[in-house]
Amino acid sequence: MIIAMANRGCAALARLALVFGVLALGVACRSSEPAAPARTTAPGPRPSILLVTLDTTRADAIGPDAVGIETPAFNALAARGARFTQAYAAVPETLPSHATMLTGVLPAAHTVHENARPVPPTTEVAAERLRKAGYRTAAFVSSFVLARQFGLARGFDVYDDALPRESAERTARETTDAAIAYLAQRAPQPQFLWVHYFDPHYPYTPPEPYRSRFPGKPYLGEVAAMDVELGRLVAAFEKGMSGPAAVVVVGDHGEGLGDHGEALHGNLVYQSTMRVPLVVVGPGVAAGVHDAPVSTRRIFHTLADWAGTPESLSLRHPVTEVVLGEAMKPFLEYGWQPQVMAVSGRHKSILAGRVEIYDVVADPGETRDLAAEKRTSPPVPAALRDYPVPSPAASRPPANLDESARKALASLGYVSATAAPNVRKGAPRPADMVRLFDVIEKASGLFVAGRYAAAIPLLEGILAADPFNLDAALRLATAHSSLGHDAKALGMFRRAAEISPSSPDVRVYLALHLARTPQWEQAVPMLEKVVADSPDRLPALEALAKLRERQERVGDAVVLRERIYTLRAPTATELSELGELQMGLGRTGPAIEAFERAKAAAPNRFAHDFELGLLYLDARRFADAREALDRVGPAHPEYPMALFKRAQVSVLLNEPDRQARIQRARQRADATTRPLIEREKLFEGMR
Ligand SMILES: [Zn+2]
Repeated sequence: MIIAMANRGCAALARLALVFGVLALGVACRSSEPAAPARTTAPGPRPSILLVTLDTTRADAIGPDAVGIETPAFNALAARGARFTQAYAAVPETLPSHATMLTGVLPAAHTVHENARPVPPTTEVAAERLRKAGYRTAAFVSSFVLARQFGLARGFDVYDDALPRESAERTARETTDAAIAYLAQRAPQPQFLWVHYFDPHYPYTPPEPYRSRFPGKPYLGEVAAMDVELGRLVAAFEKGMSGPAAVVVVGDHGEGLGDHGEALHGNLVYQSTMRVPLVVVGPGVAAGVHDAPVSTRRIFHTLADWAGTPESLSLRHPVTEVVLGEAMKPFLEYGWQPQVMAVSGRHKSILAGRVEIYDVVADPGETRDLAAEKRTSPPVPAALRDYPVPSPAASRPPANLDESARKALASLGYVSATAAPNVRKGAPRPADMVRLFDVIEKASGLFVAGRYAAAIPLLEGILAADPFNLDAALRLATAHSSLGHDAKALGMFRRAAEISPSSPDVRVYLALHLARTPQWEQAVPMLEKVVADSPDRLPALEALAKLRERQERVGDAVVLRERIYTLRAPTATELSELGELQMGLGRTGPAIEAFERAKAAAPNRFAHDFELGLLYLDARRFADAREALDRVGPAHPEYPMALFKRAQVSVLLNEPDRQARIQRARQRADATTRPLIEREKLFEGMR
């Protein structure tokens, strides 16, 4: 594997990723070229295409070979089409796996190795290709992990990522209903419809009667219930199409269910999570069972091929390939060994610190490591060695992931590390750390929920088992800081600095800690340096903006706030605060703009009509000033001033009751407004 250096610039990294992406693809393409035959049928009219992705669905939990479950809808498709018994996801996590299926390239090329990193706009996605080819395109997804902000919505005329209130997912039944309602609107052109089901994802809560039908096996109950919806969807799709139709059903990754010590998915690259169900039905696809390994990235090429742009990697052609996959999450989050797999024929090699080799046909449970006795065919060691490993520093979550997005992801079990990890030689192999997966997940969930006291003992356990885990050290330090344990926090920050002396993250979190303490002035130069080095780092910008206000450097605070609000949307309260700061600086126009935005964002909570009235008056917008000041009630502490200003406005607008308004301002005058009223030129000759 090639490990990119942590401090490479973004552009250089993108270039590298592209070069490596091409190299890695080269492995598959070279071996494929001689094997690509002519089409099995002549090209007819282009089919409408239904792509169904089944989240978290193990290959052995669905289809004619599944044990302990009947999945008639999937089986009916398998009987009519090509079923691939050795289909592999590129990544055992939802977004990166879908990104590969829908772009046709491996993560090094599309740069998404984990959830919550958006697919870059420069990468072509299948819907763009199909729409350009004249297709009407629509997608219905069932989890926040695939929400439009993560980059897969491009090219879709309709991208339905609507989820029930207060939920980060919806059921296959709800998603199918939405898709069928869409299909009822007939269209003359061919259609591309992508439907994503999320049900088998943890927690396993199948509806009745599947809950009772699968006692003790709720995961299978979820798959069985989803299969019913699959049948309903396929029937509606095929009934609605006048021309030819094609259907692809594929898993995005499996589920550990305890295999190799992994309960869920994302941390290891064994068959339970990497091998997925795949069935392809459509023009040019002969029915039958295919046992050669294939990558689900070829779904992109298959869709493009049907749409009239031929692709040699289309699943319509038998292609011999070395199938590559990765699970970089433990590397990117904790600095453990990067994991890459390469499947060729019946053998699967895994590189994670050392190489393991399994005969996945004879030994699908991967219980017998053949590395000592078996040599792999030549392209495999090269594919593993040349596989591009991402740079942890370059693959951080986007800075503009807001609080609600972070919470939605956390509710699905996806919590990113707080810091780029400490990459080191001799780092643990993820397969040797399985006992920590659960603890890390629990600790992260508690931490994100702000339950610091409950998170601390778990984080201490993680750090004891993995003493170089920078994420655990920083979370511990931050948890102590949030609870006001200043000495413990500082001790843990020292520990984090020992783990990773050059980590910019340690400096950021230490500065954020100091900003909360009486020593806050020490944080200022630290935050200034962080913001100078990485101008998009939100928490540092936010902390520095607050400290600038404490320093009474209001102009600087305003500049920082304006930068923050280009990175994430401001709340109504923040807009009002910005208006007050701008007003304090005497900037009438910007102050009006901020208050007007605050009012538009939350009209019922807006409490700055008095300020807005003064600003409008200053801007000579008298009618607006009248309206704003009329909304200031007698309970407002500045009510006498509001009456005085309202009287001025009344004179300026030449209102018939101006005399009465001046009178009223006099009656309710206080020590501040009385002399102002007596000296007011506008009121002269009006008593
Ligand atoms: Zn998934």
